[in-house]
Amino acid sequence: MRTEAPPNSTQPRAAVGVTLPIYLDNHATTPLDPRVLESMLPFLQGKFGNPASRSHSFGWEASKAVDLARQQVAHLIGAAPEEIIFTSGATESDNLAIKGVAESDCDRGRHIITVHTEHKAVLDSCKHLEHCGFEVTYLPVQNDGRVDLDAFGRALRPETILVTVMAANNETGVLQPIAEIGAICRERRIAFHTDAAQAVGKVPINLAAQNVDLLSISGHKLYGPKGVGVLYVRKSSAVTVAPQIHGGGHEHGLRSGTLNAPGIVGLGKACEIAKNELPEEACRIAGLRNRLRERIMSELDGVTINGSIEHRVPGNLNVSFAGVQGEDLLTALDDIAVSSGAACTSDHVEPSYVLKALGLSDDLAQASIRFGLGRFTTEPEVDYAAGRVIETVRQLREF
Ligand SMILES: *Cc1c(COP(=O)(O)O)cnc(C)c1O
Repeated sequence: MRTEAPPNSTQPRAAVGVTLPIYLDNHATTPLDPRVLESMLPFLQGKFGNPASRSHSFGWEASKAVDLARQQVAHLIGAAPEEIIFTSGATESDNLAIKGVAESDCDRGRHIITVHTEHKAVLDSCKHLEHCGFEVTYLPVQNDGRVDLDAFGRALRPETILVTVMAANNETGVLQPIAEIGAICRERRIAFHTDAAQAVGKVPINLAAQNVDLLSISGHKLYGPKGVGVLYVRKSSAVTVAPQIHGGGHEHGLRSGTLNAPGIVGLGKACEIAKNELPEEACRIAGLRNRLRERIMSELDGVTINGSIEHRVPGNLNVSFAGVQGEDLLTALDDIAVSSGAACTSDHVEPSYVLKALGLSDDLAQASIRFGLGRFTTEPEVDYAAGRVIETVRQLREF
């Protein structure tokens, strides 16, 4: 890990209590909480049993640990343990929910509604279904990144079988009106799925009170391990999901394959920690995010915040700096890990489709930075990052 200022810096980098580089990309992935790691280690060492082994203590031990994790996940989101299906991550959960409902319900209709700003796991699953004869409506968003409920109402058809709208966006952190959309879907008996990979553990979710039929979770977005996730499937709903991975009949036959016991134990622990610490942590992280925003906005002109600030996860700040290239900014900010509003495809730089859906020009979308603050972000780190951003934007604008 680099701890000294790079030699090309023009100003001294006073960084008291800061270890460089600083990680402010918690939407891409979160570090494993040390308490999560500790909970997992026994299941990577002596406790190696297969949870499906019913005839000896190795299996029982692993099975008991998976049961506890199932309860911990369920408890965080207000669900019942039997509604939790373990998967390999939110990508698989999204695929299972969308393709699974489409396959199971295609006799009732072949129309699906989603939103332009969804994660690729949702958009590409929908694209795949279009090739299979389904019709998909991609709803636009308003300038604040939120779905217009009137436009949603107009998109509904008698043959609509599935609505999939994310809880929190991975670029802007914007929260969608999940309760309202869920209520409308329930009234019309349409399956409602939400990709909550960026929301679970960050904002309170209580499925006992919300009309959500299917919900995706990713372990590595809430300080758990990578390669493990959950699909919540509401038991009392009429929604049925056709399995997409066959063999062995694990997870009520919905997701076959030997359970990733260490990963599942870690995800359970991560959910337990989130449940206990969420209110206080959300408040602390929102405070740091607001501090970062105020510093930047008070020192620089031509800064805009992308997406609703009110309906947003605490750790997100997505800002555009008029007159600079996001890629130049990222290159210059070599001691801070953030993402820009530009995605590098194999041969060129594409402005973010999420920011463009909010009405940003290509230039402004590319001049954007996503800051993702998290559990381990400190105040000195935020102050250092703010100083570096201000200094760098000024320098780039001078050229
Ligand atoms: C990270 C993410 C995913 C994918 O999750 P994996 O567990 O990495 O497959 C899906 N949706 C959203 C919104 C995400 O942020």
